[in-house]
Amino acid sequence: MERNNRGQQGPQNDNSRRMRQPRRGFNWFSLVYLILLLGLAYMWSSTGTADPLKREWIDVKENLLISGDVEKLVYVRNEHKGEIFLKQSALEKYKNLYGGREPKGGPHFYFLVSEKFDAENQLDALVESLPEANRFKVVVEEHKSYWGPIIEWLLFPLMLLLMFFFFMRPMRNMGGGSGGGIFSVGKSQAKLYEKAGSVKVTFKDVAGMEEAKVEVKEIVDFLKNPKKYTALGGKIPKGALLVGPPGTGKTLLAKAVAGEADVPFFSMSGSDFVEMFVGVGASRVRDLFRQAKEKAPCIVFIDEIDAVGRARSKNAGFTSNDERENTLNQLLTEMDGFGSNSGVIILAATNRADILDKALMRAGRFDRQIHVDLPELKERLDIFKVHLRNIKLEPGFQIDFLAKQTPGFSGADIANVCNEAALIAARKNKDVVEKQDFLDAIDRIVGGLERKSKIITPDEKNTIAHHEAGHATVSWLLPNANPLLKVTIIPRGQSLGAAWYLPEERQLTTTEQMMDEMAATIGGRVAEEIVNGRISTGALSDLEKLTKQAYAMVTYFGMSDKIGNLSYYDSTGSRDMAFSKPYSEKTAELIDEEVKRLIDQAHATALQVLTENREGFEKLASLLLEREVVFSEDLEAIFGPRKGGVDPNKLLRDEA
Ligand code: ADP
Ligand code: MG
Ligand code: ZN
Repeated sequence: MERNNRGQQGPQNDNSRRMRQPRRGFNWFSLVYLILLLGLAYMWSSTGTADPLKREWIDVKENLLISGDVEKLVYVRNEHKGEIFLKQSALEKYKNLYGGREPKGGPHFYFLVSEKFDAENQLDALVESLPEANRFKVVVEEHKSYWGPIIEWLLFPLMLLLMFFFFMRPMRNMGGGSGGGIFSVGKSQAKLYEKAGSVKVTFKDVAGMEEAKVEVKEIVDFLKNPKKYTALGGKIPKGALLVGPPGTGKTLLAKAVAGEADVPFFSMSGSDFVEMFVGVGASRVRDLFRQAKEKAPCIVFIDEIDAVGRARSKNAGFTSNDERENTLNQLLTEMDGFGSNSGVIILAATNRADILDKALMRAGRFDRQIHVDLPELKERLDIFKVHLRNIKLEPGFQIDFLAKQTPGFSGADIANVCNEAALIAARKNKDVVEKQDFLDAIDRIVGGLERKSKIITPDEKNTIAHHEAGHATVSWLLPNANPLLKVTIIPRGQSLGAAWYLPEERQLTTTEQMMDEMAATIGGRVAEEIVNGRISTGALSDLEKLTKQAYAMVTYFGMSDKIGNLSYYDSTGSRDMAFSKPYSEKTAELIDEEVKRLIDQAHATALQVLTENREGFEKLASLLLEREVVFSEDLEAIFGPRKGGVDPNKLLRDEA
């Protein structure tokens, strides 16, 4: 997949360098061995010139020592060993013992005695008894062991060497894995795809995103026919930024560009610039642009650019990261640095455009921003078609239905649904994937794995059923809430029950819609209050969501009268609200008050709806207890058709 020609900077090159690394490590060890061997050899060579021959003490005493050939006797006390040195003149006599050659130096003989041997006295007595001419010198010595000092000597440098070796090796690997040791950390980590076709993704694999595709295709066209655009005096844009939520296919689109463009394509991730060494990021940026300019015309793709492109902080010192800022500065400089017609176009992707540095987004750098949004109905349909290409479906399968069931799903979610459905069908040993498998897959992706084995007491089950029925009733009866699709009390993942809604696909949300949704959210807790007269911990995530929403309404959207049209939202992400609140203590109190008022209001609405429709609500709860899953058709049967907003039954019925 990542095949490239034998380019200078391609991964193949990297690999070959990496392969060499173990051998380099081995060399370090062999050096240590060499030193050890040399030391040993030196020791042996310095211990004596001739190999002394061994004799028994008796033999020595009765023959050798009295012969008058002995020059000197060295008695090594701690080794209980005597070494005998012959007189120079007597060496001739002993020649045949040493293989016919006259032995040099000494000692020439040695003998060992027992520990109890009183050498000093015995030897002195022996010497006394000899005639003057035959006497010899007696020297008593104590040998220190050879090993002690030598080990002391060698150990220290050896340890140093080993330490050096072990610390250097990980450092070398930390160089981003490009190999070549510590000296190549500054090299860019970009992968290079030179020929079209080395990436298998094409524009056909990218469904929907029509506007984005047009823009991107134009960029490819710029590189292919620059004349067409420059002839009229226009400048080719330097860069385009793909912005959108995760999983919407930004990386996929860039891959498709690589697959279709007939120009070299460098691909790397923003985090590839980041390294523990200071200055590495900047040097990698330089290296990347140098390579790119050599290969121009070409495209450079930087995925997840927010890793380096985050806004430089104003209050340096506390949260600042100099290394990242240096990298970003280098990136800014490089993007200015090359002429706009040099044929290098930068493509970048992020899902955090709000935190990117403004300097990066100004015209002349990323001239174009391509927004990739979550897919809409029609686009979801197309994405499903792409991912269902290889899946064996039951005859007459309706894809439209799937698209309708998956509002708010990203392309990645849809790919996941298709895969999960195929796996579920396979688990049930089916030959084809059926509609129900897809529904199960969607449920599973939204809510996690069903946990039918979870032990729930009948009392708890009753509470859960009423809680979920509360959500369902309130959301069904309030015209501005999201219509319910289905509700279950089968435990899944962390939750004990769940309600699925069909969010309207809208860009703006009004105060009324928010209030009605909040009422539906608190509906579960209110239901518990009404039915049991007591509440449970089951509403934790509801309350969390509620509180966040209320705070957002007051502090971000200016939806409270008392605070007015102020927004403390910080789109740059550079200010840390935890440390410096942009408002006074008095306002803070007011905000808390307003949040409480909004939540109380939602509570009152839910309470009113549930008490007024107590009968239907109870009916729904018992239906839930009986069937565990209840669909919007059942709600319509109980409460009648919805009065406002979208009718989910209509939506589903359209398709049938
Ligand atoms: P991101 O926007 O986070 O970079 P990706 O491009 O990595 O998302 O998308 C992840 C996966 O989701 C893709 O590999 C693809 O399978 C699927 N996908 C996302 N968007 C689309 C799309 N528009 N058409 C087809 N598949 C898509
Ligand atoms: Mg991505
Ligand atoms: Zn709930």
